[in-house]
Amino acid sequence: MNPSETIIGIDLGTTFSLVAYVDERGPHVIRDETGEARLPSVIGVLPDPDGGRPRLTIGWPARNHAVEHPETTVYSIKRLIGKGIDELRAELPFLAYSVMPGPRHTVPVEIDGRRYTPEEISSIILQELKRRAEEHLGRAVRRAVITVPAYFDDSQRQATRDAARAAGLDVVRIINEPTAAALAYGIGIRQALQQQSPCAPESRGTSLLQVAPCPTSGSDGTRADAAPTQTVAVYDLGGGTFDISILRIESGVFQVLSTAGDTRLGGDDFDREIIKLVQHEVREQFGLSIESPTTKQALRGLAEAVKIRLSEQDAARIELDLGQDRLYRRQIGRDEFERLCDPLVARTIALCRSAAEDAGLAIDRIDQVILVGGSTRMPLVRRRVGETFGRTPYTALNPDEVVAIGAAMQASVLAGSPLDMLLLDVTPLSLGIETMGGAVSKLILKNTTIPCRATEQFTTFVDGQTAIKLNVLQGERELARDCRSLGEFELRDIPPMPAGMPKVEVEFLIDANGILNVSARELRSGRQAGIQIVPSHGLTREEVERIERESIARARDDIDEHRRIDLVNQVEFDTNKAEQMLAKVGHLLDAGEAARIRADIAALRKLAAETRDLDQLHRALDAFGKGTLHLAELGIREALKDGGEAEAPTARAPRDNVKT
Ligand code: ADP
Ligand code: MG
Repeated sequence: MNPSETIIGIDLGTTFSLVAYVDERGPHVIRDETGEARLPSVIGVLPDPDGGRPRLTIGWPARNHAVEHPETTVYSIKRLIGKGIDELRAELPFLAYSVMPGPRHTVPVEIDGRRYTPEEISSIILQELKRRAEEHLGRAVRRAVITVPAYFDDSQRQATRDAARAAGLDVVRIINEPTAAALAYGIGIRQALQQQSPCAPESRGTSLLQVAPCPTSGSDGTRADAAPTQTVAVYDLGGGTFDISILRIESGVFQVLSTAGDTRLGGDDFDREIIKLVQHEVREQFGLSIESPTTKQALRGLAEAVKIRLSEQDAARIELDLGQDRLYRRQIGRDEFERLCDPLVARTIALCRSAAEDAGLAIDRIDQVILVGGSTRMPLVRRRVGETFGRTPYTALNPDEVVAIGAAMQASVLAGSPLDMLLLDVTPLSLGIETMGGAVSKLILKNTTIPCRATEQFTTFVDGQTAIKLNVLQGERELARDCRSLGEFELRDIPPMPAGMPKVEVEFLIDANGILNVSARELRSGRQAGIQIVPSHGLTREEVERIERESIARARDDIDEHRRIDLVNQVEFDTNKAEQMLAKVGHLLDAGEAARIRADIAALRKLAAETRDLDQLHRALDAFGKGTLHLAELGIREALKDGGEAEAPTARAPRDNVKT
């Protein structure tokens, strides 16, 4: 790819905007100095005291400015762009700034006597994103792909285009947000690449021809028919709006079959449920109503923080200082919060059903479901969506960033860059998990044809262990530290059991789009957890080749080290078990035998810590097993008497450093 030709992808959002690009490693979202990718789509107008040109603030400073100066802050301009005054009547009561009919059907915002068209405001945001991209890439950026909601009409699309032009950007294409989300997951990319050609028409209306088939396009012909028609539902729940879109992708054409949504339903409403709860209880307990702007503002911030905590944890504390030594505090459980939110989520589900119906599809026959927007991090949302569509939704990518990433991928296709790393037909590298002591257990070997699935059982290593951390690894080496970590998750709330007793089944599943689902399930308790990953992002072809070469060069040492770790783990496990049994049934042994076993335990541990001779260690471990057979039998007999389970433990354990 000619680096000077980078076309950026822009998600111009109602509340947040992002910019991304693709290089040979895959897509990247551009972040600010603090690591934040989201730029608030907000402009603050600071009047110049001397009557000169007003000063503008953009992004976070403007968003913070909004609290004190709502009337000189412009936010949610996307709700206005490309609309006439008649269409805007419904919006007006919700806006703190004033709008008025302007020339040529425009609806400018008036601040301090100066008028700003929605295009002007959007162009300020786009300029900032362009600046950010240029700073990051170290060169001028001219061309961009910009996303808009699927329901945007021609006039809204044209206004977005005009805003970009005013920002010095040449809009190569306007694409639909749900289409971008699908592209981010690689859906349709293969077809898009094949069909890519200069004669692809521009996007138009709601039935968008994304990348149209072109009779003269020179394709290699091998994959042309391989990709079947797919239907995709994109569920986008943000801060203030909900959109559901159903797409059909066929021969490189993305068609929006239907859209539905609610422009006044989003994360703010979940916050409001907590706010209402607190207000109600504060009134009951203290006879107070929360009126002051500062307390209200504090409560709003608190409510959002509690909501976000409940996406991670089962419970959260709420504490609100009411002044004069009055402190409101309580604990809220996720289940309680979910009961409050369920009616809101149910409204989104009803809209999903009607969108599916409009598309003429049975809801449980849609091939893929993609989650977009920060509020889809809520477990309740994921559950309800999963139940409704009868499948696990795609969540591998950050829901805030999916749309920008997809825009960047479309941009990359249009720039003629290779995206073939993102198109997996086989897994380029092996996939597995980290086990005790930093070894790797590979579940899917490299060059396995996708889709594919593998399962393996593991257990715990420590008595009473209630959580297991699973580190998903990619690479050919035998040790975790030499592989690439794709992500981690925790299986929690396993009932306490002796080491070796829990049965943890780990499943790796790669679907036809190359998305990896890893799940872990403790079979005795039914507890389960999982993670979704896009394994193809972040590696170039050269890197894959280097990793292969290194694994061959280091194979001998790696295998020895893996074997040493396994043996040392086994020593630790067996000696711990022997000690426990001595404590329980040692009195049934004669004193000499008990003393000898104690000495054997110490000797074996010492050997494991010191020796490099693995065969010797293996033999010693075998001998130890024979020497403690009598003790083990007594232990099992005793356990059976207690009615407990007495199963021979297996000592393969994922990394067990989580104890709760
Ligand atoms: P928009 O599309 O409206 O610009 P976003 O997609 O950025 O908005 O979503 C913002 C919303 O997501 C906010 O209401 C925020 O509180 C919510 N949100 C972000 N992270 C979480 C989380 N972990 N759990 C629940 N809600 C979250
Ligand atoms: Mg959004």
